[in-house]
Amino acid sequence: MAKKVAVVTGFIGFIGSTFTEKLLEQGWYVYAVDKFCYLSNQGVNQKLLDKYEDRLHVMMGDICHIDWLPECDVIFNLAAESDVDIGNQDASSFLASNIFGVKNLLSLIQKRITIRTDKPLFFHVSTDEVYGDIKEGSFNESAHLNPSNPYAATKASADLFIQSWARTHGLEYIIARPSNNYGLYQYPEKLIPLACKRLSRGKKIKLHNEGTPVRTWTHTEDTADALITLYEKAERNRVYNISSEFEQTNYDTIRKLINCYFLENFNRKVPNIENHLDFSFERPGQDVRYAISCEPLRKLGWEPKKEFNKEILKIVKHYKDVWAW
Ligand code: NAD
Repeated sequence: MAKKVAVVTGFIGFIGSTFTEKLLEQGWYVYAVDKFCYLSNQGVNQKLLDKYEDRLHVMMGDICHIDWLPECDVIFNLAAESDVDIGNQDASSFLASNIFGVKNLLSLIQKRITIRTDKPLFFHVSTDEVYGDIKEGSFNESAHLNPSNPYAATKASADLFIQSWARTHGLEYIIARPSNNYGLYQYPEKLIPLACKRLSRGKKIKLHNEGTPVRTWTHTEDTADALITLYEKAERNRVYNISSEFEQTNYDTIRKLINCYFLENFNRKVPNIENHLDFSFERPGQDVRYAISCEPLRKLGWEPKKEFNKEILKIVKHYKDVWAW
């Protein structure tokens, strides 16, 4: 059988590590690229290397500067700066990784790979945040891009850049726009792992805008399955949303998390829950509600398998017990 070969950027990040493991489980050969920044999980890296030494080649590199891509079928680009609050303070590294990094990868596909081999598919992982917020209903793939923070603006820019590059240079691409993800191996700067770490240190959880923003939660394993389904079945040069369509306020997410943390059951009520919460922070430009539909992906046979209310206890236990995320 023909070998399937992928480059995966950002492979040691939250979604990248689950996705890379799935590819390897399914027999893929993977060149994994990451700049190994503060959130890199060396344990996950070692686990993958130990298990798949013969099919995994790890390269430390910044997608803005790498000057080489191996022969491959597809480049899955998951490398990005992705923390909204950090981007709100200083977006320089977001412009670099999320826009110039993408441009560098496209140039490498264009200039170098085509000298001796075929052009690989450029599979870019974008975000639902490119659409901005919506009070009711949901955005489909043809909705107008209306990002409301610097992170989302860099992701939207990259999406447009890729589409223009396809028109000008004949690139083959897929753009996937997942909703908020939850799962294991997320660095504790994002809502769920950070909340667990703060509780374990006896600190209050900071919930901006009083916990009212609504987010849709898709498990990383479902997102990873969706990316593989899209690679195998999706029409090229199209955008696909990925979403479980399970939504709740950040307050509800944290309420369930606190119940799991102290009582091991998302539904049992911790008394005086407000004692664990700090509502003093307002995020500038805060999006009220993100919501996307993903009919084209569902038509390809993908369904989310994980349910938030069933997974949350497992996830809270993990972040409570394991110090290295
Ligand atoms: P993450 O921050 O956990 O991981 C990103 C990885 O990319 C890290 O390992 C980091 O070292 C690497 N990286 C960053 N800049 C790089 C560069 N210039 N060169 C090489 N490596 C670099 O992010 P994540 O949550 O796994 O997100 C992966 C992708 O999915 C991102 O493109 C993000 O925009 C998108 N996304 C994430 C979510 C989510 O909820 N986590 C939702 C929608 C979309």
